[in-house]
Amino acid sequence: MSRARKPDWLKTRPPSGERFTDIKQSLRERDLNTVCEEANCPNLGECWSGRNGPGTATFMLMGERCSRGCNFCDVETGGMDALDPDEPEQVADAVADIGLDYVVLTSVDRDDLPDQGAGHFAETIRAIKRRDPSILVECLIPDFRGEERLVRQIIDAEPDVLAHNIETVDRLQWPVRDRRAGYEQSLSVLRQADRESDIHTKTSLMLGVGEYAHEVYQTLSDLRQVSVDVVTLGQYLQPSRSHLEVSEYVHPDAFETWRRVAEEELGFLYCASGPMVRSSYRAGELFVEAVLE
Ligand code: SF4
Ligand code: SF4
Repeated sequence: MSRARKPDWLKTRPPSGERFTDIKQSLRERDLNTVCEEANCPNLGECWSGRNGPGTATFMLMGERCSRGCNFCDVETGGMDALDPDEPEQVADAVADIGLDYVVLTSVDRDDLPDQGAGHFAETIRAIKRRDPSILVECLIPDFRGEERLVRQIIDAEPDVLAHNIETVDRLQWPVRDRRAGYEQSLSVLRQADRESDIHTKTSLMLGVGEYAHEVYQTLSDLRQVSVDVVTLGQYLQPSRSHLEVSEYVHPDAFETWRRVAEEELGFLYCASGPMVRSSYRAGELFVEAVLE
């Protein structure tokens, strides 16, 4: 169904309100980036307000340019930014100032740095926890090209959730992801986190890139094999005409079926599944509901 008109279930209203304005101001004062804004995320109003529990925002660390070029992603490739050594403290200040209870940290890939950015990531987790250990931190990390010592640096900083996105089924890893990424490599990152810590693990898949149902099922099963606790499923949306085309707009009922399969048959702690779901969608509320209560 390429180039098809977007169905009605993908239409959203722009975010507004006092809390939205306050958060935006605090971020601008510190020159910080959030994925929520950069990606024009349709869930911004819902996540930032945290109507039914902790609000969630996703901070993008280490610049706006990535060393990789995935075919579904709108982040620019190459010409890497210099690391800002003050960023960990700035992010921690913003989290305290905004009053977030649940923070998602993610980053561009930094294949250009000797430690691929693992140290900077870990320092940001520690800076947030130093201010208030009760703030829940989810970190959505790159694959660090499968280097276990770098994944361990993140584990040692003790986030509450360690997420790494497998993005799609085995057969479609390329052309969907950069050639340096891979199915087995991503599974090994998640396996290591489970093996070496009690931290909850999480991953995410996009639907609508050309996958078959049996491949989605296989992927979910493989993820459970490495004891992943939480999975999210969302619709892929093409950021521009030069990106991968949408192969299908998956109906909300099909997302609901996958949620049931993931939770009731395969045993994930929870599965957020829906056309507009992104990996950090209402992450704070759902984590508290499913894990802490
Ligand atoms: Fe985008 Fe991440 Fe791929 Fe970089 S590695 S292009 S940020 S999806
Ligand atoms: Fe931000 Fe993630 Fe929520 Fe989108 S889904 S608004 S990126 S926290």
